[in-house]
Amino acid sequence: METLAHQIRLVPTPSQEEYFRKACGTARFAWNWALSEWKQRYEAGEKVDGLKLKKEFNARKAVEFPWTYEVSKYASQQPFLHLQAAFRRFFEKQARYPRFKRKGVHDSFCIGGDQIEVSGKRIRIPRLGWVRMREEVRFRGKVVSVTVRRIADRWFVSVHVELEEAPARCESQASVGVDLGVNRLATLSTGVTFEGPKPLRRQLKRLRRWSRRLSRRQKGSNNREKARQKLARFHYRIRCIRQDSVHKLTSYLTENFAVIAIEDLNVQGMLRNRRLARAVADMGFHEFRRQLDYKTRMRGNHLEVVDRWFASSKTCSDCGLVKEAFSLGERRFRCERCSFESDRDLNAALNLFRTVSSTGSQACGEGGSGSSSRWSETTLCESGTWA
Ligand SMILES: [Zn+2]
Repeated sequence: METLAHQIRLVPTPSQEEYFRKACGTARFAWNWALSEWKQRYEAGEKVDGLKLKKEFNARKAVEFPWTYEVSKYASQQPFLHLQAAFRRFFEKQARYPRFKRKGVHDSFCIGGDQIEVSGKRIRIPRLGWVRMREEVRFRGKVVSVTVRRIADRWFVSVHVELEEAPARCESQASVGVDLGVNRLATLSTGVTFEGPKPLRRQLKRLRRWSRRLSRRQKGSNNREKARQKLARFHYRIRCIRQDSVHKLTSYLTENFAVIAIEDLNVQGMLRNRRLARAVADMGFHEFRRQLDYKTRMRGNHLEVVDRWFASSKTCSDCGLVKEAFSLGERRFRCERCSFESDRDLNAALNLFRTVSSTGSQACGEGGSGSSSRWSETTLCESGTWA
């Protein structure tokens, strides 16, 4: 069954906030304790294990860390499991070496679902009681776990829910190609476009001003803390605007198309390119992919991820001719062979659309995602014509 998370702003009383701070502190302490033990033992040639460390911590906590009892026991237990997972990712070369946590940076703690009760706009947290939420949890089902975190100076809860029933499946049989753009959020092969808010660029000036202000403030001063909070809130607001526009796009796609073809953009590679970096980050390509992955899984659409070496923007969507050179600056595509002409992004979207329409579109409900295109590796890149 699918698990989804809904992040909701909390409205805690001052004493509840005090509890949150304590629980974050406890979680941070447990993490740092475990990480330092892990390092020492590993260097001493011992075989280390998160669960073993957890047992040891529990055996010692009554005497050495009695204050951990002031908050939910999960606050000091989850970090051991998280550390274990972090090391696994590190050894599988999927993440860097786990680092010590600092106060005020990604403050959070987790609680298991068995301890949690949700009722309307309230959530019950062990050893604390009911805390008000800004909205109700969007999904119906069993609460698996919750994470309480601080973003800027606000508190949020992510409620992870195991869905009771799958959402309505997509009923359309249509296919679509989607070209993600730098100038425009997305262009669909149907001609529909999504402009995207570009909040970062528009507000970059203000952001820069606050960053400068922050760097001028004395370290450890109250004013510096204020400037830091302001900047963090600013970043958070931008992220919300961006996420919202991407949600609109991914919902539209999964509600209206059985088969969705997108390009496998190498976001990391693009971010290294300075000129594109800001616009790319701004548009949230990564967020787009994340949302599309889970929404297509839920609704049963087929997501066709086309190999990134497929020259979607250089290829004529009408006759298949591949241009030798086609610079990023050129906004229109003109084919020398068949005199086809269109908007650059629309041409790319049409090419993506063709990768699915010409292989016979998969019926809605077949599911699956992340498969690479049969087309891209064979005929298209090499020959430059439609086989
Ligand atoms: Zn052509």
